[in-house]
Amino acid sequence: MKAAPFDYVRATALDDVFAAFERHGDEAKIVAGGQSLMPMMNMRLAAPTVLVDINHIAELNGIAETDGALRIGTLTRHRELGANALVAQHAPLLKMAAPHIAHPAIRNRGTVGGSLSHADPAAELPACAIASDALINVTSRRGARAIKAVDFFLGTFDTAIEPDEILVSVDVPIIGTGERVAFDELARRQGDYAIVGLAAKGSIEDRKFKDLRLVFFSVADRPIMASETNAALEGRDYSPETIKVAEAALEADLGDIDKDLHSTAATKGHLARVLIGRVLSQFIADEEQ
Ligand code: FAD
Repeated sequence: MKAAPFDYVRATALDDVFAAFERHGDEAKIVAGGQSLMPMMNMRLAAPTVLVDINHIAELNGIAETDGALRIGTLTRHRELGANALVAQHAPLLKMAAPHIAHPAIRNRGTVGGSLSHADPAAELPACAIASDALINVTSRRGARAIKAVDFFLGTFDTAIEPDEILVSVDVPIIGTGERVAFDELARRQGDYAIVGLAAKGSIEDRKFKDLRLVFFSVADRPIMASETNAALEGRDYSPETIKVAEAALEADLGDIDKDLHSTAATKGHLARVLIGRVLSQFIADEEQ
C-alpha cells in the first residue's frame, strides 16, 4: 500500500518546526527515522498532510556529558546507542537494549526520540528511560521543559508531549559506582518486538539488592514500574526464596496483563516470571565478576 498524498517540509532549524506547527496544526507530523511513521502511513493508519523532516537540524544530534547525565540528542540512531563509547560507559542499559530493537536496517535509521515519542508499549527504550530515571527534554515556542520518564508515557502511542512541542533530547543519569543494570526480553525471533521485556537498574550492597527499578514492557499500554516487586526485593540476597518472593510480588504489579495478537495474558505472566529470575541473576553475575 502507499501513503496518502502529503507535503514535505525540510526543517533546518527548530524554528522551521514551530512555524510548520503554527501553519498546519494537527495536520503536521514530525518525521525522524520514519521507521514507525512511514509504515503507519503506508498502511493508512496515519495520514498527516504535512511531514516535517527534522533530520537536518544539527542541534538535535550528539551525545555528551552534562551535569551528571548523558544527554542523548533525539536524532541518535538505535545503532549508535549500541556502538557509542559514552553510552557504554555511562548509560550501559541503553547499550544492552539496543541490539534487541528491530533489525540492523531499522536500527540504522530509527531514532531514540522517535521511539520515545512513538510510545509503543512493546518498545525497549521507553522502559529503559523509566528504569534509568531519565528526563525527557521537549521544547516549543512557549519554552523548554523536562519531563520525568515515569510521567511521560500515558498509553499506547500517547505521551505527555503537547501538539506544539518537539522532543529534543533525553538526559540519562550517569551510572554511579556500585550501580548495576540488567536487561532481557523474550521475543519470537531476535529483533521482533518483545512478548515481554524487563529493563532494570539498582545496586548490590553486601550481596543484597538495593534501590531496584524493575520496569516491564509489553505487558500493558505503557511500561510498568514493578513497585511492589522492587520493595519486596529491598535488602534481600539472591536465592530461590527471593525469586519466589519476587514472583509473588509481581502478581500485584502485573495483575491485569494485556494480551496481544500473539500471546495470552497467562503466557505473558509466565514469561514475566521467567524474566525476573534471569534479570536478578544478571545483577549477581555482574557482582561476582
Ligand atoms: P518516526 O517513525 O520518524 O516517528 C515516529 C513517531 O514519533 C511519529 O509520530 C513522529 O511524529 C514522532 N516523532 C519522531 N521524532 C519526534 C520528536 N523528536 N519529537 C516529537 N515527535 C517525534 N521498535 C522497538 O522499540 N523495538 C522493536 O523490536 C522494533 N521492531 C520494529 C520492527 C519493524 C519491522 C519496524 C518497521 C519497526 C520496528 N520498531 C521497533 C520501531 C523502530 O524502533 C522505530 O525506529 C521507532 O519506533 C521510531 O523511531 P523513528 O525515528 O523511526 O520515528
